[in-house]
Amino acid sequence: MVKEYGILIGGKWVKSNSGETFDNVNPANERVIAKFQSGTPDDVNRAVDAAEKALGYWRDFPAPKRGEILLKAAQLLRKDKERLARLMTMEMGKVIAEARGDVQEAIDITEYMAGEGRRLFTQTTPSELRDKFCTSVRIPVGIFGLITPWNFPVAIPSWKITPALICGNTMIFKPASDTPLCAIEFVKILEKAGVPKGVINLVTGSGSKVGSAIVKHKKIRGISFTGSREVGEFVTKEAGLKKVGLELGGKNGIIVMDDADLELALDGVIWGGYGTTGQRCTAASRVIVHHKIKAKFERMLVSRIKRLRLGDGLKPTTDVGPQINAKAVEKTHEYTGIGIKEGAKLLCGGKPAKINGKGFFYRPTLFTDVAPDMRIAQEEIFGPSISMIPVKTLDEAIDVMNGIIYGLSSAIYTNDLKNAFESIERIEAGLTYVNSSTIGAEVHLPFGGIKGTGHAREAGWAGIEEFSDVKSVYVDYSGTLQRAQIDNVPGPRKKRK
Ligand code: NAD
Repeated sequence: MVKEYGILIGGKWVKSNSGETFDNVNPANERVIAKFQSGTPDDVNRAVDAAEKALGYWRDFPAPKRGEILLKAAQLLRKDKERLARLMTMEMGKVIAEARGDVQEAIDITEYMAGEGRRLFTQTTPSELRDKFCTSVRIPVGIFGLITPWNFPVAIPSWKITPALICGNTMIFKPASDTPLCAIEFVKILEKAGVPKGVINLVTGSGSKVGSAIVKHKKIRGISFTGSREVGEFVTKEAGLKKVGLELGGKNGIIVMDDADLELALDGVIWGGYGTTGQRCTAASRVIVHHKIKAKFERMLVSRIKRLRLGDGLKPTTDVGPQINAKAVEKTHEYTGIGIKEGAKLLCGGKPAKINGKGFFYRPTLFTDVAPDMRIAQEEIFGPSISMIPVKTLDEAIDVMNGIIYGLSSAIYTNDLKNAFESIERIEAGLTYVNSSTIGAEVHLPFGGIKGTGHAREAGWAGIEEFSDVKSVYVDYSGTLQRAQIDNVPGPRKKRK
């Protein structure tokens, strides 16, 4: 019997009004894991009503006490880490060590945000007028819509839910349809930790029905969206005047200079390009390589790639898990065809694969002699495919790095401090790593991109700003009318009677 899960509205797990469900499949063996509700716009309305009802209570709940609930949630997550990680590998395929990392990221951010309950800083400043007190206070935005992708099924929801909670918002959460189980399990832990009824509501279902109803809903004041650029553009058009945060795709590059430690760069390229089967927003899909070491580095890469073992991520021997679904494999393979047609040289991979006749696997793929304007060097493939682009100088490397619509992550391998600092200054991206790969953000620093990757900054203090508003407060205790910018010559303090 396949288990059926509900949606969460006002503290109750219920069925969707649609009366329909969809299946979720393990991408390593194509077995059905469970059934989930195919939500509707009407379910979204019910969820918004519940969130509206809970808002006053939660907004007035002291922030340090909200923090205590988050701390409890972090402790519960820690206890459940292994179970959640195994579920994640089954649900979306990433290898178990990475799934543990995904849950750890959620533990880290939940602990961080728990602490923010005692800070939520704002500014207090002097006034230009006598006997006037100037400060600012942080207030919740209201009801938030949170829409997430499948590739970090616990970490990304946690980056949105925990700051939204600590800032006093209520929310409707719509997870990706490839990973609803991880989302439900995470929310159940928050419920168990004591998040009151109606504060978090969860509706599963398609982007076109549930997602778009959230984006357009008049009572929702903020949208935090992580996903593709195409859907991000839809959100921008349809969200109206809501506070919108967008975390979209990437086409991240690693520069490997001729002075680099090539063994170190090799580890970084393999990890960045094929970790999570190339399905990270920060995945390294371009290697911008100095022409002097290109041939040697190609040989090193090919030899390492040939040793990578495809398989079920639960097996400790697996290096590269499956892609998320059959459509994703088709897309990666389509780009292999495009690359060959464009004249790039395929060095290895370039084929789908099955294990025991099942699974959505793709062989780690490496192209070389890729020109910067080829489609495989410009468009997000979101699979295990790397394009090597040869360059002659650092200036050329940085031009290539910046010559894309996206601006998420970047890296440079070099032993020359000048190369490193010039790259930090000139690369157009939200993240630059030096002598480390394009992936592996830590939760206390801001995370996000620029240009076509969107404008949100999540995690750390930036997450607090994303999920709260700031109100300026002026308290005039002079006892006279003081007009800012007009009565600007300080007079004597009014005497007490
Ligand atoms: P996607 O855009 O297809 O889906 C993301 C979410 O949006 C899902 O929950 C989906 O159901 C929903 N959605 C789809 N259509 C919608 C609509 N019309 N209205 C509202 N919601 C809608 O992306 P995906 O395939 O789940 O994830 C992969 C993409 O996410 C890649 O482009 C990747 O780079 C990006 N991503 C970005 C970051 C980042 O932080 N920048 C992190 C992870 C993933």
